[in-house]
Amino acid sequence: MKLNDLPTAPATAWTLARRAERMNPSVIRELLKLTERPGVISFAGGLPSPSTFPVAEFQAACERVLQDDGRAALQYAASEGYGPLREMVAAGLPWRVDPAQVLITTGSQQGLDLVAKVLVDAGSRILVETPTYLGALQAFAPMEPEVVGVASDAQGIAVDDLARAQREAPARFAYLLPNFQNPTGRTMSEARRAAVVQTAAALGLPLVEDNPYGELWFDVPPPAPLAARHPEGCLYLGSFSKVLAPGLRLGFLVAPPALYPKLLQAKQAADLHSPGLNQRLVAQVMQDGFLDRHVPTIRALYQAQRDAMLAALSREMAGLGVEWNQPAGGMFLWARLPEGMDAARLLPRAVDKGVAFVPGAPFFAGGPDGPEAARSLRLSFVTASRGQIDAGIAALAATIREQRQG
Ligand code: PMP
Repeated sequence: MKLNDLPTAPATAWTLARRAERMNPSVIRELLKLTERPGVISFAGGLPSPSTFPVAEFQAACERVLQDDGRAALQYAASEGYGPLREMVAAGLPWRVDPAQVLITTGSQQGLDLVAKVLVDAGSRILVETPTYLGALQAFAPMEPEVVGVASDAQGIAVDDLARAQREAPARFAYLLPNFQNPTGRTMSEARRAAVVQTAAALGLPLVEDNPYGELWFDVPPPAPLAARHPEGCLYLGSFSKVLAPGLRLGFLVAPPALYPKLLQAKQAADLHSPGLNQRLVAQVMQDGFLDRHVPTIRALYQAQRDAMLAALSREMAGLGVEWNQPAGGMFLWARLPEGMDAARLLPRAVDKGVAFVPGAPFFAGGPDGPEAARSLRLSFVTASRGQIDAGIAALAATIREQRQG
C-alpha cells in the first residue's frame, strides 16, 4: 500500500472543559511581549527589583540546610507547610494567629486559586474593588463566578456600594487589597478599613484580604490589616515574593479554623505541598530577625525610586493634563491620561519611542469600564534605574504631546 492510500485517521477529539474556555492568557503577559523589545525602558512589569534579592544569604542557607537537614529538605512533606516557618509567619503578624491556621502556599497566587476552588461555585458572586488585581480575576475565572466590580476611590472600596451589592444578592466574599494596591498603588485609609469591617460583619460578608505589599511602606506603616480587626470573618493572604524573592514561589494564607481543612484538602490535590527545600531556606534566612534588617533597605530603595518618578512626572508632564497619584508604598503608581485619550492605543506609539507601561483597562472587572478605565495606566517605579526613569517619563510625555496634537 502506498502512503497516500492510507485511510486518514479521525482527528483526536479533545474537548475542552467549560472552565478552560474561561481561561485567558494574561493580557499583561501578552502586552509585556510587546514591551520586551531591546532598548525599551519598561515601567510595565510587576517584578520586584532583583538588586534587593538576598543572594548571599540564600547561598549560605543552602549550605546550612543541606548539611543539617538535607534528607528531610529533599523528601515529601506535610501539606500544611514546614512547622518552624508556619510559626515564624504566625509570630510576625500583628494579631493573634495560631500557627495551626497558617497554610504555606506556592506563592499567594496559589492562595487565590485555593480560595476560588473552596468558596466559589458557577454563578457565585464575588465582590471586587475597581480596578483590581488581574491575577486574582484569572484565578477566580475558571470557577465561573459572577464578578461584581464595586465602586472605589482613592481610599479604597466604597462602603455604601459594597453594602448595596451584598444586599442585592449575597456574595461568597469580597476580595480586597488594602495596602499599596496592584494596580493603583492606593492604600485603604484607617476610617475606610473600620467601615469595611463593620459593614462586612453586620452583613455577614466574608472578606479575602490580599497583602503582598504591606511591608513595603515608605514614611509610616499602613493601618492594621482587616484580618486583625475581624479574624473570624477574614481570610488573609501573604507572600515572601516582595520581601525576599518571587522565584521561591512561597506565600501563605491564614484561615479561620472552620475553613482551614477544606483549603488544606484543596492544597493537597493541587501540589501535595510547597517545596520543602525552599521553605527551609526561607526559615533559615529569616532566623535572627533578618527581615527587620533587610526590608528597610527595600523600602528606602523603592521610596527613592518613587520620588524620582514623581519628580520626572512633575517636570515632563506639565501642562499636558495628565494626573497621577502619590503611592505611600509598594511598587506601582497610577496615572490618568487627558480626557478622550486611550492608554491601550497609546502603548504601541510609546514603545516606538522607547517606553512601555501597562494600560489600566484590563484591571477593571467585567471588561473595560468606559472612558475612565481607558484613560488609566499603571507605572512600576522599582526596576528602572533613575536615568531610565527620567528618559522613560520624558519619552512618555513626548508620546502624549504628539498624540494630543495628532
Ligand atoms: N496578589 C497581588 C496583589 C499581587 O500583585 C501578586 C503578584 N503580582 C500576587 C498576589 C501573587 O504573588 P505571589 O504568588 O508571588 O506571592
